[in-house]
Amino acid sequence: MIVDEPRLPGPLRDHLISPVTRTALRVQQETLGAVRGFLNARGFTELQAPIIGPVTDPGVRGAKQVDIDYYGARYKLMSSAILYKQAALLACDRIFCVAPNVRLEPPETASTGRHLVEFHQIDVEMAEASREEAMAVLEGLVAHAVSVVIRNLAGELEALGRDTGAFAELLDQPFDRISHTEAVQRLESAGHPQRGAAELAWSGERVLSGKATRPFFVIDYPKGSRGFYDRESRTSAGVLRNFDLIAPEGYGELSSGSERESEYARLVTRMRETGENPAKYAWYLELAREGLRPSAGFGLGLERLVRYITGLGEIWQVTPFPKLAGVMSP
Ligand code: AMP
Ligand code: MG
Repeated sequence: MIVDEPRLPGPLRDHLISPVTRTALRVQQETLGAVRGFLNARGFTELQAPIIGPVTDPGVRGAKQVDIDYYGARYKLMSSAILYKQAALLACDRIFCVAPNVRLEPPETASTGRHLVEFHQIDVEMAEASREEAMAVLEGLVAHAVSVVIRNLAGELEALGRDTGAFAELLDQPFDRISHTEAVQRLESAGHPQRGAAELAWSGERVLSGKATRPFFVIDYPKGSRGFYDRESRTSAGVLRNFDLIAPEGYGELSSGSERESEYARLVTRMRETGENPAKYAWYLELAREGLRPSAGFGLGLERLVRYITGLGEIWQVTPFPKLAGVMSP
């Protein structure tokens, strides 16, 4: 059995030669193989995601974007691939990528055990798909990845102290779905005040996650809580056709996804409502004016998924070159 690691990474050399790191990277390798196998078999085309662009995902609450000089213009490092995912559906019907993201998260996130400054998302987008179809793909994908890792790396999980019995329910029962309103009510009755019109606070999400024994979806977040690209319900104003997937045992959010807004006029309105200047998004809105395809998709955090599968205490333990908020690192 591998013993507990400290909360913050030590010197890089110690981290790289640690048996925990080696084993976690082996699990990551197996997880990515399973993800690719699952999506390839379902007709998804893997793309390489852009790293820089004139704009990036504005919906990264609390985190700052990184500017770079691009021949005299101010460009951004990608905080998520969302805009390019929608655009890519003009070329392919179903796409995925393992996309690098950079977010300058606030320093207090260095000790949450689930935030990195540099991380990866398994980004999936499907043209003409509904939210329910995207959720079904995500549910199948997570269950497949877990089952492949358990089958092929049982000894490695045991060495990490991960009891694979923790995945029994995940593997044979569908994931529950609760609405954001219901999540708020549950939190309030558990003595955790939560604003109804807002994103679930991490403290509350952890409570819900800690009580769960298999992953579950929270759906229908309110409009104020998310970016302009999550599609608003056409029948319930202010409610978004979106979802989060929350891991059990306190691991918290694994993925966020939604049906997307794709109509030009709605995108412009939603940008204004979320305080974004449409002029910044010229390339994207130009495509939308000519016609973006309706779609649904999600971003599944690779390091979050591997941390959950390995059962490790800290997300940095599953990455070779950890970057934690406010910590100077190679
Ligand atoms: P978001 O766009 O914030 O919903 O992020 C999509 C997914 O990326 C989340 O569900 C997480 O799995 C992952 N993620 C977001 N921020 C971070 C972070 N700072 N460190 C590691 N993973 C993250
Ligand atoms: Mg999210």
